[in-house]
Amino acid sequence: MKPHYPDGLSNPTRRTFFTCTAVTMGAAATGAFAATPVNAPPEGKRKFMEEATRLATESVEKGWGGPFGAVIVKDGEIIGRGQNRVLLTGCPVYHAEITAIMDASHRLNPKALLGSDYGAGTILDMIPREPNSPDPVPQRARMLKGCEIYINGAPCPMCMSAIYWSRIDHVYFGASLEDTSRIGFDDAFQYEDFAKPWEKRRIAVTPNFERDKGLEAYQAWDNKKDRHPY
Ligand SMILES: [Zn+2]
Repeated sequence: MKPHYPDGLSNPTRRTFFTCTAVTMGAAATGAFAATPVNAPPEGKRKFMEEATRLATESVEKGWGGPFGAVIVKDGEIIGRGQNRVLLTGCPVYHAEITAIMDASHRLNPKALLGSDYGAGTILDMIPREPNSPDPVPQRARMLKGCEIYINGAPCPMCMSAIYWSRIDHVYFGASLEDTSRIGFDDAFQYEDFAKPWEKRRIAVTPNFERDKGLEAYQAWDNKKDRHPY
């Protein structure tokens, strides 16, 4: 994916802020991070983690975002790249895994351009439910089935969920959630929060608000004869 560079990058205030952050992070990185290769990927796959880390480091050095990069691999070839660009875009969900998934999806489905008027319906092909799968439908869109993702750090819950939606087969990640917390990104608490009932969540949630209204769209999906499960 070719990066595009909104004007925000030239904002000196943001540059100063990020440089300070990067220095702090660099100091932490040289201090206490022990190299503890647990379940290290096979040698032939190391180059994918190297590319994910290269993307992550580039994002730090250019002030685009946090130190997170990801690549998606299909049949031994990188088909998607992503890096965190939250600072560059001001978009809180501009995470490496999300952008790698969008890049790979675009590569696999080049006619399905986001926002295009290519046509009605979908070009996603269907594949059968896997044996012993709890999947309630017999077929689903292929998405990124057959792909692997390599991430230099543990995925946050949003990105892990995106990986589920993508049907990616295997996740390789380097740094742990604890490592991520130590450089100031508190992804770990979200995993803990998701395990709690709605009323105990950190963010106020009102369930069952106008449920009947919401269900009207579900009914439309249910009534659609040619619906395409994904
Ligand atoms: Zn994420």
